[in-house]
Amino acid sequence: MLLGPPGAGKGTQARLLTAKFDAAHISAGDLLRKAVVDGSALGRTAQPIMAKGALVPDEIVIEIIEERLRRPDCAGGYILDGFPRTLRQAEALAEVLQYLHAPLDCVISVEVSEEDLIRRLAGRRICGACGSMFHIDTKPPTRAESCDHCGGRLLQRDDDREDTIRHRLRVYREQTEPLIAYYDKLGLLRRIDGHGTIDRIAQRIHRALEDGQVL
Ligand code: AMP
Repeated sequence: MLLGPPGAGKGTQARLLTAKFDAAHISAGDLLRKAVVDGSALGRTAQPIMAKGALVPDEIVIEIIEERLRRPDCAGGYILDGFPRTLRQAEALAEVLQYLHAPLDCVISVEVSEEDLIRRLAGRRICGACGSMFHIDTKPPTRAESCDHCGGRLLQRDDDREDTIRHRLRVYREQTEPLIAYYDKLGLLRRIDGHGTIDRIAQRIHRALEDGQVL
């Protein structure tokens, strides 16, 4: 599991880990954004909440994640990204994983300063067509506003605007940060420094997994 504030790079590292372990990538945010695009009842409920930077109600997210964890591709392992985000979600997850006989091996807490998080999120741009990520300072596209891979238009997520980012960070501190102590008590937590390049952070995660005897 990758735990950390918005903008810590959980999604990027989760994709690398998924490829390395041939595991299923379970991103709560991606599943919710897909429900919004599909226009399902659940997506219609979630959309205004997500645009504000608040948390979607626990029951909704728990149901989506539970359904996802039961799919056959999770049998060979899974990487959780952005779930759980509340104590209630963590407790629900423990029950589901016990039932599925698929216990957590390790929880990686990715730690980044608030100043960096705001800079990263406010500069983030995503291709509306293929989902590739760019950053106006650290990974700018060759042609402004368009994707280097497919030429699609680059967009800013509604919730990546500065006032919404500050709200998301407050929500993180109040509701999600207590999970660090929760998983530490269970002996599953490994803290890593989330500053620096993608490769450096991936190396730190690798070492943390070795320390935790997951590798
Ligand atoms: P993310 O892509 O992980 O930054 O998530 C984007 C938004 O989706 C969050 O700001 C929340 O509104 C919602 N969301 C994602 N994961 C959860 C979760 N575990 N619980 C509640 N809301 C979530």
